[in-house]
Amino acid sequence: MRGARRGLSLLPLLAGVAAFAVAADDPYQRQRARMLEEIRADYVDTAIHIDKEAADPRVMDAMASVPRHEFVTPDMRRLAYANRPLPIGHGQTISQPYIVAVMTDLLNVRPGDRVLEVGTGSGYQAAVLAELVAEVYSIEIIEPLAAQAAARLQRLGYDNVVVRHGDGYYGWEEHDPFDAIVVTAAASHVPPPLIAQLRNGGRMIIPVGTRFLVQELLLVVKDETGSVTTKQLLPVRFVPLTGGH
Ligand code: SAH
Repeated sequence: MRGARRGLSLLPLLAGVAAFAVAADDPYQRQRARMLEEIRADYVDTAIHIDKEAADPRVMDAMASVPRHEFVTPDMRRLAYANRPLPIGHGQTISQPYIVAVMTDLLNVRPGDRVLEVGTGSGYQAAVLAELVAEVYSIEIIEPLAAQAAARLQRLGYDNVVVRHGDGYYGWEEHDPFDAIVVTAAASHVPPPLIAQLRNGGRMIIPVGTRFLVQELLLVVKDETGSVTTKQLLPVRFVPLTGGH
């Protein structure tokens, strides 16, 4: 009896040890869970714009898996899971988690897909996509950001992402056609080379507008016959797409 009672009284202690072990292993777990709640709430608030009450569960799983704190500078780490964009140096930003979720979700990607990203930045959006598809190609125009993101993604084990320094306006012809394209800087128009590199049946998400006026997030769909339609989704605010075009 005594033995049994002692055994029972150990249970809560062991459970406590296990919970502590999980928290010590990933101190950001709770913050990441809160970030997911905020994304869910924003989805409900913006359902009228994007015609969806919630993101695909696979997209939410990807958002729950990627360690966002690894993609920000050390001084921004305590804010890593706040639902807002953060500076990443060179005048650029890592996008707001809700926006990353929406952009990823509306691409409707499948596991075998090959995706192009224009604007690698920190590499965070590329990592979220890499959780969901076979291959991600990402182009960044600021060389040190491209180098840092490539090293970071490699260190974290995202070996299905290839980062290149260059002007993403022209896409990445060696690897086209792409099943999906995501542009994470605001352009004045949808770059024709990107439309050309989108597979029939493919989708592109891109913010279009100027630095000072309202930008709109656009969904560009190329159907199976190659004809292209564009839908305005949400008013957004992105850093500008730069380059020589
Ligand atoms: N997807 C990024 C967000 C980065 S902000 C992330 O998850 O962190 C947009 C990025 O686009 C910036 O890093 C900026 O330097 C880059 N950019 C701007 N114009 C570009 C161009 N023409 N080609 C490639 N990258 C560009």
